[in-house]
Amino acid sequence: MSELAATATTPWQRLHKALMPDYNRKATLYWWTMVSIGVLVLLHCIVAVAALPRAALLQIVAGAAIATLAGFFPVRIPRSTNSFAAGEIFIFLVLLMHGVPAAALAAAGEALVGSWRTSRRWTSRIASPAMAIVSMIVAGSLLELVLGALHAASLYNDGLLLTAAMAFSVVYFVLNTVLATAVIHLKRNQPMVLREVLANFGWVALAYAGSATVASLLFLTVGQSGPGVLMAVVPIVGLLLATLHFFFRQQEADEAMRRSRVEAVEREAAQAALHVQALAVSEQRFHSAFTHAAIGMALVSADGEVRQVNRALAALLGQDEEALVGQRLDALVHADDAGTLAAQLARVHRREIDAFANELRCRHHDGSDVWVALDASFFDEAGAEAESLIVQMQDITARRSAEARLQHIAFHDSLTGLPNRSRFHEHLAQAIAAANGDPERRFAVMFLDFDRFKLVNDSMGHSAGDAFLVQVARRIREHVRPRDVVARLGGDEFAVLCEDLEREAHAVTLAERLQLVLGEPLQIGGTEITTSASIGITFSTFGYTLPEEVLRDADIAMYRAKAAGKARHALFDAGLHEQVSERVHLEGELRRALEHGQLSVAYQPLFNLGSGRLTGFEALARWQHPTLGLISPATFIPIAEESALIAPLTDFVLDAACRQLKLWQARGDTFADLTMQVNVSGNDLAHSGFAQRVTRAIVAARLHPSQLTLELTENVLMDRVDGAVETLARLRELGVSLSIDDFGTGYSSLAYLSSLPIDSLKIDASFVRGMRTGSKEAEVVRAIVTLGASLGKSVIAEGIETESQFDQLRRMGCEAGQGYHLSRPLVAENVELLLDRIEVDRWSLQHGQPSRPMLHH
Ligand code: C2E
Ligand code: MG
Ligand code: MG
Repeated sequence: MSELAATATTPWQRLHKALMPDYNRKATLYWWTMVSIGVLVLLHCIVAVAALPRAALLQIVAGAAIATLAGFFPVRIPRSTNSFAAGEIFIFLVLLMHGVPAAALAAAGEALVGSWRTSRRWTSRIASPAMAIVSMIVAGSLLELVLGALHAASLYNDGLLLTAAMAFSVVYFVLNTVLATAVIHLKRNQPMVLREVLANFGWVALAYAGSATVASLLFLTVGQSGPGVLMAVVPIVGLLLATLHFFFRQQEADEAMRRSRVEAVEREAAQAALHVQALAVSEQRFHSAFTHAAIGMALVSADGEVRQVNRALAALLGQDEEALVGQRLDALVHADDAGTLAAQLARVHRREIDAFANELRCRHHDGSDVWVALDASFFDEAGAEAESLIVQMQDITARRSAEARLQHIAFHDSLTGLPNRSRFHEHLAQAIAAANGDPERRFAVMFLDFDRFKLVNDSMGHSAGDAFLVQVARRIREHVRPRDVVARLGGDEFAVLCEDLEREAHAVTLAERLQLVLGEPLQIGGTEITTSASIGITFSTFGYTLPEEVLRDADIAMYRAKAAGKARHALFDAGLHEQVSERVHLEGELRRALEHGQLSVAYQPLFNLGSGRLTGFEALARWQHPTLGLISPATFIPIAEESALIAPLTDFVLDAACRQLKLWQARGDTFADLTMQVNVSGNDLAHSGFAQRVTRAIVAARLHPSQLTLELTENVLMDRVDGAVETLARLRELGVSLSIDDFGTGYSSLAYLSSLPIDSLKIDASFVRGMRTGSKEAEVVRAIVTLGASLGKSVIAEGIETESQFDQLRRMGCEAGQGYHLSRPLVAENVELLLDRIEVDRWSLQHGQPSRPMLHH
């Protein structure tokens, strides 16, 4: 309801709101009063003027028109916001010539046009002429009264007319001003103080008085010379006014420009003063910061001369501040770093850069090095005649030495203090780059491996192993040239990089010298130990690009040296390289073959040479490669031994052979005692879980342990003798039989043999092959058979290819044998056929049938 009441307005209220929203009740009332009076006066004046003659009317209209026109050229009073339009002259003239109503109309007309021009508001456009007409009626009537009284008293003269006119104009002006200002005061609800109003408009009042004077003079002239004189005078007055208008305008513009110039100058001066003040403050601040900074600071001329230093820098370098001033900056740093710094300073000097940072060593007064982080940048010193650099130096010695320690740890072997593999790779990479840039810069790399390290480590403990490594490392270091790099690559593997080698033969000489000194006994924990090193050597002439290629080839050569019988050296050559890449390829293939079940097992029957009975089989691994065809165990077994593939391979053969044997034994009593011989490698014995793996295979196949024989080559047994003993003992505990394969080719001593838990010896095929009556080989075979008998170990012959070999062995008393003459290795299906035939033969024998010789099939 209340909202409705607030918005429901009458048309009258709406008009008020649109036209005079800022008018309060009093102001509104005043406005309407003024306008109403104005309208009444206007009507009165129109009526009065209408009665005048035509010529008078024309003059009135002309006077009003000129007055209005003059409004367009107001004369602004310099250095004030006031102006007056000299149009009043003509209104006053109309007043004197044609009376108050005419002047009132002219004033209303002039006010209407003036307010129309200067204001957009209808309220002032209407009120201004109303106020002008009212003011004129009042002031004009007063003048008429005065002049009438003067006439009546016969006092009237031209001088009094002038005075009266001037007085009138001031009254008119004051009235008009008061009426107009009243609106503003009413709106703001402020009381009006006449003094203030007049103070503001004083100059204009004076101008009005002037106008009144001019009008009076014109009036008097017209009175003497007739109205025609106006035709000449009016343009002159107009011209005068226009000149005044433009003169003042010009003056005003000049003044404005002058003022703005003055202001600009003043502003600049103020800014300059501020800047100077700020500079002084910042300079003061800088100097205090410079002097008291915890970080070392110096002001240095652009060409590198020290001009000023702070306390911190003097302390950093252990010198007096005065002693440092005048020195060259690059003279304060370590000789190795001075060049870099000088180059950087020169670049600054040439204006190529204006700041740089660097980490370098400074020389402390006590001769030590101080690592500093140096920052230099151009410095604009207020008042300085030349540019300088501000240099900051922070002591980073602690950080640098920590870094160096870490670096050393990361790149050195903690036991021997020698560079480690990573560091060696770095040296090697540099040597490769040098050799590739200049073929004259040959290098050689030696790969050393100690032949007895494992033995020492296993039998005497790790601390003895460590002592061993420390001593051999020292020996190597002492016997190479100082510039050669000796590194420990890991375990008992060492490498030597010999750069700037004049001749390859020198590397060989060095290797021989090393072998000599490394062969001398070592004292470890009171025990004397002899060792020897196998050394592989390769040369830059192979055109290497990567450090790992160099080490790989030196390693290969080392293996060759080892294979050739230890304590030797071997040189790498291109043929070795090819062999190696083929091996690497095959290793990958073998891994895949094991994963995809491409391996199988062949079984070579073993016979009792005396009775001709089948006693068992030897399991032999077979690899049928999809593209390379059948690959010989002589090729892939060594590859498996070198990689980690031998364990899965042995497990595969072991499992397959045990399961197979169980199946064949299950055929009946005839086969219940068949045995299986499985080859195991040296690496198998070194494996701590090997006995467990064997147990698992036996248990899985539900085989009797005594029906399994493990074959070990003689060399394997001798090499690993200490490590293997424990494994062998555990296998014996299990009940598994052990046999020495390829017997006679190794270096086993009889003393060892008797102490080893061995059940049988397998005479190597090379002796069997060379057997002819009276030959050396026949003697060896006979000796082995005798030895076996005296040690209580059975003897088996392998590689029996002919009837005569077979007969000879049988006559010598060799218990068992295998060979192509008896049977080739067979696939499992063919073993089945063999077993079938034996069963048939057995049956025929039992039932009096003639039997075929069993060994021919
Ligand atoms: P080995 O243990 O001495 O096996 C006997 C080798 O002589 C077998 O060669 C066999 O086929 C061959 N052979 C048998 N009778 C005759 C003959 O009358 N004349 C000739 N010239 N050779 C005969 P294979 O199968 O090539 O195996 C070679 C070697 O590879 C084996 O020698 C054995 O040291 C190793 N090997 C084979 N299978 C395995 C396995 O599963 N594990 C391990 N660690 N080594 C295996
Ligand atoms: Mg064998
Ligand atoms: Mg053999």
